[in-house]
Amino acid sequence: MTTLTVAGVLLGGALAGCGGGTPPPPAPVPTPPTPPAATASPAPPKKPPTMAPGPAGRTPVFERRPATGTPAGGSPSDDKVVALSFDADMTADQGPRAKAGERFDNPELIALLRRLKVPSTVFMTGRWAEEYPAQAKDIGADDLFEVANHSYSHYAFTADCYGLPVVAKGTMARDVERAFAAFREAGVRNVVPYFRFPGGCYDDAALRALAPANVTAVQWDVVSGDAFATDAGAVARQVLDGVRPGSLVVLHCTRSAAPVTGEAVGRIVPELRKRGYRFVKVSELMEG
Ligand SMILES: [Zn+2]
Repeated sequence: MTTLTVAGVLLGGALAGCGGGTPPPPAPVPTPPTPPAATASPAPPKKPPTMAPGPAGRTPVFERRPATGTPAGGSPSDDKVVALSFDADMTADQGPRAKAGERFDNPELIALLRRLKVPSTVFMTGRWAEEYPAQAKDIGADDLFEVANHSYSHYAFTADCYGLPVVAKGTMARDVERAFAAFREAGVRNVVPYFRFPGGCYDDAALRALAPANVTAVQWDVVSGDAFATDAGAVARQVLDGVRPGSLVVLHCTRSAAPVTGEAVGRIVPELRKRGYRFVKVSELMEG
């Protein structure tokens, strides 16, 4: 069985977190009088697009918007979309490290994405949502973001994946469902049925095992190299060199394992905009 891996991913002990800081507690609000019957109900939330399962129900895998070739007649800039995705890693066995003060979240990065108004997709582990429930909820409450599943445990779904512990046989779908349960527990909104394999490692057995979870697996075509990076300029260059229309970029949202990501994003975003790119969430990229 071939193990597909992608370089530049966190492993070992990388908990990452994307967080937006703790929202203030809601002020008590007096019960308003019953409003007159609405003439129109609000539009139901749009259902995020997914891909059809593969043969025998295998979990489909999305990597980037397929290239459409040279647009005929249209402006080439129509195709200039790019999705930044941020993995909020926290591995199930990293609780003691968090307790000891290691920060797997990165609220400054979330704040930066808000300031720059960059729609983004956060692939969050269930363990991360448990550690940072207020931040998880805050990210999910902001329509700038969508929250996708990065497993509960951040254990590997193949045997050999950057030294990550491996998910016990037969529990892969359960691990994914447990992350969705953790999101519900934290009150996270804007959850999309997308799943990123820890380390990006998967094989045919994993795609079959995840069929009951009804997710679309999401990989990427541009590796930022931000995991454990110390040179923000190098990360930015790698992204800027790699992005094509329809690209999907993997970055991380964890101070502990990706300390220069915010600085890199601060360089990447204005430059890509200068080149005519528009930032979209993975769901919009998948819509085509
Ligand atoms: Zn990860």
